[in-house]
Amino acid sequence: MSAVEIDHIGKSFGGLQVLHDININVDEGEFCVLVGPSGCGKSTLLRTIAGLEQSSSGTLKIAGNDVTHADAARRGISMVFQSYALYPHMTVRENIGFGLKIGKVAPSEIRARVDEIACILRLEDYLERRPKQLSGGQRQRVAIGRAIVREPKVILFDEPLSNLDAELRAEMRVEIAKLHKRLKSTIIYVTHDQVEAMTLADRIVIMRKGSVEQIGTPMQLYREPANKFVAGFIGSPP
Ligand code: ADP
Ligand code: MG
Repeated sequence: MSAVEIDHIGKSFGGLQVLHDININVDEGEFCVLVGPSGCGKSTLLRTIAGLEQSSSGTLKIAGNDVTHADAARRGISMVFQSYALYPHMTVRENIGFGLKIGKVAPSEIRARVDEIACILRLEDYLERRPKQLSGGQRQRVAIGRAIVREPKVILFDEPLSNLDAELRAEMRVEIAKLHKRLKSTIIYVTHDQVEAMTLADRIVIMRKGSVEQIGTPMQLYREPANKFVAGFIGSPP
């Protein structure tokens, strides 16, 4: 059984068709990376999976359950955005624990869970600070902490590192890889960065103009690109 089954998904905004017949099966525990030019529909696809947009056609299953028309809150999915939208008036501890608090989890358990996540994300020394007292990389770690605190079945990342400088991006890339190993969660990750895609992905999905061009492991796409577009994107020899 796939963790995420995207079956003939299409999406239009008014007369504009943004996604065309998308078919992707993401395995449980897989790290799946979506790449493609700006405007090709990557964010729309993630938002449709998360339930923030309603698909125009097709079906979507999470862990075998049809969630095509389910509320976002019922899908067991978390999303990490490029701009991390933390609550400015809350401490790091409160930001990470917020999802548990509204889920009516007991305060002592919230405390224990936040401590555990702070340890994974190396935020132990920053728990009582507010977002404006943190660096960009630390803020993005808090955003990730907030997304994983409820142990979602699937985590979606939309260009999470693109606002960070190159050095921090490299560091966070390593951390995300470790996090995936540790949590064993299913991840769908959008990026512009070839290095991120090649190093993090179990499989890469190449998108173009709202369609999937090719799906494969980094090595498959590198060795056997389906066309020049894929070769150009992956950096295969001509
Ligand atoms: P990407 O994330 O790959 O850059 P997007 O999914 O953001 O691409 O956008 C794909 C296309 O859908 C673009 O042409 C964009 O303008 C359009 N689009 C996205 N969201 C909306 C919306 N809410 N209403 C109308 N058009 C939209
Ligand atoms: Mg986008």
